Amino acid sequence: MNIHEYQAKGLLRGYGVPVAEGRAVLRAEEAKTAAGALEGPVWVVKAQIHAGGRGKGTFKEGSAGSGGGVRIAKSVEEAAEQAQAMLGRTLVTHQTGPAGKAVGRIYIEEGAEIDRELYLALLVDRVTSRVSFVCSTEGGVDIEEVAASTPEKILSFSVDPATGIQPFHGRRVAFALGLSGKQVKQCVDLVGKLYKLFMERDAEMVEINPLIVTKGGDLRCLDAKMGFDSNALYRQPDILALRDESEEDPKELAASKFDLNYIALDGEIGCMVNGAGLAMATMDIIKLNGAEPANFLDVGGGATKDKVTEAFKIITSDPNVKGILVNIFGGIMRCDVIAEGVVSAVREVGLQVPLVVRLEGTNVEQGKEIINASGLDVIAADDLGDAAAKIVKAVKG
Ligand code: GDP
Ligand code: MN
Repeated sequence: MNIHEYQAKGLLRGYGVPVAEGRAVLRAEEAKTAAGALEGPVWVVKAQIHAGGRGKGTFKEGSAGSGGGVRIAKSVEEAAEQAQAMLGRTLVTHQTGPAGKAVGRIYIEEGAEIDRELYLALLVDRVTSRVSFVCSTEGGVDIEEVAASTPEKILSFSVDPATGIQPFHGRRVAFALGLSGKQVKQCVDLVGKLYKLFMERDAEMVEINPLIVTKGGDLRCLDAKMGFDSNALYRQPDILALRDESEEDPKELAASKFDLNYIALDGEIGCMVNGAGLAMATMDIIKLNGAEPANFLDVGGGATKDKVTEAFKIITSDPNVKGILVNIFGGIMRCDVIAEGVVSAVREVGLQVPLVVRLEGTNVEQGKEIINASGLDVIAADDLGDAAAKIVKAVKG
């Protein structure tokens, strides 16, 4: 689960990490009071969306004024105007995709005078099974680009969980970032606090880009991006409270409410499968037949009729879906439960696209009977290869 920059900065502040004073704004009328509560002489007005690259982003429609999603204002009035201009508009960045993201919140911050922009991130390194630091002198720009063109400018190391974070880790970062004097001490302090936050809050990723050296020579986190382990949210109630459902894919949100393993993808064939392995194999064979899956969906082993109905509704709500493939191998899952769920969902929402069903295993005869008796226009398939060929043919002709 990801959170907004202003929420991440709130967490950082709680750990004693240096960030600027700021106010979040959810409604246009609040903008002036928020800006007025901050000391100038410069204010930064920042669109809050769960995507980076806002500074270089562009607004889609309407009059959001000129500039991207991060703007500098020279007066309280200007800051409020900028906030009002961005609220409710759609911001497109290289991370949002062409559809962009609606801006529902703005963060107004006291502006900093920047001497240098650096990069610092913590993430879970799956190779070493440890928390890793990644840092670079090339901050404020895309780290992927730095990694591709000048990888020698990136330092990365992992922390041994047995010893935990140590001052030498912080000095290592400070050296790599070319810090000197009091900044080294600040860096050791910062690295320790970020690690503590990361561990205590079950974070998956903390990215400070840029970490800046101010004109006054101090370190400050100018931007903050954080993601948390969804499986740990049950023990992180105050992190869970930061969830902004409007940032999530509505189909994935609905799926999570019904405990379905669903990931939206870009293709045209909707899939409903039981078992993650079979779901992967189904996606592979769709590709092999020359089409693309519209989603990954594992309804799980013990799915009820209601769950299956919901899953089918989520698939059909995707306008990109031009055909649906139901592929069930009934082990714990019974084929008749799947059939009932599919029939009930189609009764409720209708069926505008071709549907191929392949059932095998427990109660397969009852399952086929339920589908035959329903009068649904279903293309039956015998095995996975047959099913994939039939749905791709039905969609592509
Ligand atoms: P992002 O584009 O979504 O990554 O948003 P950032 O918060 O990283 O802001 C983008 C850029 O705006 C930064 O790299 C800075 O160059 C600039 N910026 C952000 N805040 C300030 C500020 O307080 N003062 C100045 N001078 N520039 C800022
Ligand atoms: Mn940034």
